[in-house]
Amino acid sequence: MSGMRPTGRLHLGHYFGVLINWVRFQTEYESYFSIVDWHALTTKYQDTSQIKANIHEIALDWLAAGIDPEVSTIYVQSGIPEIAELHLLLSMITQQNWVEREPTLKDMVRMLAADEEEAREKATYGLLGYPVLMSADILTFKGELVPVGKDQESHLEFARGLARKFNHLYGVDFFPECRPEFTSTPLLKGIDGSKMGKSANNAINLADTDADTTKQVMKMITDRTRIAKSDPGHVDQCEVPWPMYQIFGSDITEQVRTECESAQIGCVDCKKRLAGKMNDYLRPLRERREKFASDPKKVEQILEYGNKKARETAKKTLAEVRDIMGLHNWKND
Ligand code: ATP
Ligand code: MG
Repeated sequence: MSGMRPTGRLHLGHYFGVLINWVRFQTEYESYFSIVDWHALTTKYQDTSQIKANIHEIALDWLAAGIDPEVSTIYVQSGIPEIAELHLLLSMITQQNWVEREPTLKDMVRMLAADEEEAREKATYGLLGYPVLMSADILTFKGELVPVGKDQESHLEFARGLARKFNHLYGVDFFPECRPEFTSTPLLKGIDGSKMGKSANNAINLADTDADTTKQVMKMITDRTRIAKSDPGHVDQCEVPWPMYQIFGSDITEQVRTECESAQIGCVDCKKRLAGKMNDYLRPLRERREKFASDPKKVEQILEYGNKKARETAKKTLAEVRDIMGLHNWKND
């Protein structure tokens, strides 16, 4: 089980940090992938105008990346009210100090707010409950393996703690303990050398054109100690292109190293070649995206089908949770 917020288009960080694992795991495990629109509200509750459009864009990015809707269950969080119910039930057993000490929440508020007053406005009850909601996302589907990026590690620790507490309190062995699964690039850097992010203006998006990609690559931070083209470069100090070569040009890394370290090639030409490699790699994915984009009805049907499947599982889990907690299972649905 894993999810992504509909807060913008997906980039290479999502692809190499998460999506390649989803594609790999979907044939090995029963998989649930959720477009978590309630999570988007935790930080964007003031402006919701883009959420619907972003849901569609994320679905296109997933399909382009190779998530197969016949194999995996792809759904939208707000279509599954049982997740909200589990969030509420779990909130009853969540200690206040557990949510207050979450490190990523503090970072989020600091990043989002310009001053103290804005920080208070941003730090809502919903945002504070983010890790509880994320736990409900996972536990509704009894998720065991959660393929995510490195920044989600502490949230998964939280979900594990809640599952353990629920099982202990009610004397059951019901919720499994979930664990994160990372790729070899669990924190991909953007063109400026910091974490590639949707809102950081440093991303290369899956849906970008070849020209956009080349433009972004040409802006990448290289070896800060190399001033003139005639100076020998140092690949180990090359901040972004060299790590990108490991992903997109693994067949020519030794050639790149030799040419760079003997000053046969300058950073500009080296980045041009990298952009070509990246565009070649991304072409089939972008073509697949175009195909799905030309048929928006089909994408809608895929999500509806996924929501139906996800809801069946969610209803089953919640009926069991109500029983375990000694609540009534009302026969009105
Ligand atoms: P936002 O700025 O809206 O939070 P985001 O880019 O962090 O956007 P999320 O939907 O929060 O996207 O995260 C989706 C998944 O992608 C998470 O598992 C996250 O860890 C992973 N992820 C995001 N950016 C990167 C990155 N640069 N490298 C590796 N994984 C990433
Ligand atoms: Mg994020």
